[in-house]
Amino acid sequence: MPVLRRGADLPTRADVVVVGAGITGAAVAHELARRGAHVVVLDGAARPGAGATGHSGGMVRAYDEDPAIAALALPSLAAYRDPARWASGRAPLRAVGAVTVADPARGAALRRAAARINDALRSSAHVVSGAAEAAGIHLAGGIALVEPEAGWVAPAEVTDDWLRQAVADGAAVHCAVRVRAVEDDGGRPAVVTDAGVIRAGAVVSAVGPWAAGPVRGLSPATLVRTRSIQVSIVERRPPAPPHATFVDLRTGRYAKPAGTDRTLIGMPHPVWDSPVDAPPDPAHVQATVSALAAHLPWLPAARILTTVRAADAYAPAPAGGAASGLLEGTGVPHVWSVRAWNGGGVKTAPEAGRRIADAVAAGALSPSV
Ligand SMILES: Cc1cc2nc3c(=O)[nH]c(=O)nc-3n(C[C@H](O)[C@H](O)[C@H](O)COP(=O)(O)OP(=O)(O)OC[C@H]3O[C@@H](n4cnc5c(N)ncnc54)[C@H](O)[C@@H]3O)c2cc1C
Repeated sequence: MPVLRRGADLPTRADVVVVGAGITGAAVAHELARRGAHVVVLDGAARPGAGATGHSGGMVRAYDEDPAIAALALPSLAAYRDPARWASGRAPLRAVGAVTVADPARGAALRRAAARINDALRSSAHVVSGAAEAAGIHLAGGIALVEPEAGWVAPAEVTDDWLRQAVADGAAVHCAVRVRAVEDDGGRPAVVTDAGVIRAGAVVSAVGPWAAGPVRGLSPATLVRTRSIQVSIVERRPPAPPHATFVDLRTGRYAKPAGTDRTLIGMPHPVWDSPVDAPPDPAHVQATVSALAAHLPWLPAARILTTVRAADAYAPAPAGGAASGLLEGTGVPHVWSVRAWNGGGVKTAPEAGRRIADAVAAGALSPSV
């Protein structure tokens, strides 16, 4: 856990205030602090990663159907694999493999994607077709892009590591400090919190699902909505085999190992405008078990241990693609909102953080306040 502060010693000035200490805010704060900015991170919760990040399955892979997201996911996977990028000295990636199941008609596109991934990462991605199963996952009539070098990370652990690095580079991380509004103070932002006001050169809002009902001054131009995400952890006992992470593009169903004898399962739960703390939906738990049995035949006999329901921010893909649309203005000068991640913010966070920091550093650090 990085050095966390409360409200009492809140600074009055910063180059950049990052609102939100989820995985996105932590990535941005780390990258900005590395570039020499004086960064203050604020989170209303008592600890970092208490939002979507703390509930997330953390599945990471290079492949995505959306080329703009794939362009973020591929270098992000490289970062998650590289021990030199982490304060802990250990790469956070659990490389259990990733299986993307798709309609057989997508074979040629998946083969091209595998070749691109292997060129960039020196990995062994490949397409499995005409087989019943790959890496412990039944393919249910689909074909599979298998990325043996992908897998999952623990998002809270990644968040902590980045905040630790940011603090080592001079950042301050204040938890239990809620931002109430961001105002235009003579052309530069004033961040009004319940512990005082910070005058900043720029503000990056990385409030995740809270972007759907933002505080004054943090509304992104695009309409953002919350959507429920519900996952369950089940016991996986022999003879149930170990397996890779997987997602079926035809249905949106997914699973990942969550330890040596546990598996996380999920499928789309399209409940819009869902509160971040809504209670689990028992009917969806049963529907998820039944649906996932096509991929994990041992599932109906497995014990369900826990169910977690949370939400992420959803918005249409930015018009110019993810590369141009990572940040949106809010109407207050030098205040930007990070794009909604539509349920996939972990697999893109390292590269998104780097690009956002580049954009903010280029446009906002001079003159400092
Ligand atoms: C159950 C679940 C499973 C998922 N699985 C995957 C997966 O396998 N792979 C993947 O890539 N993605 C996955 N996702 C999506 C991914 O976790 C999210 O996209 C990502 O965590 C979003 O991070 P964030 O930092 O943008 O938001 P959050 O983690 O929600 O952080 C926002 C922070 O802002 C703070 N905040 C809000 N308002 C204020 C305010 N006014 N003042 C101060 N602080 C404020 C909150 O306290 C919170 O800590 C999953 C999500 C869920 C919920």
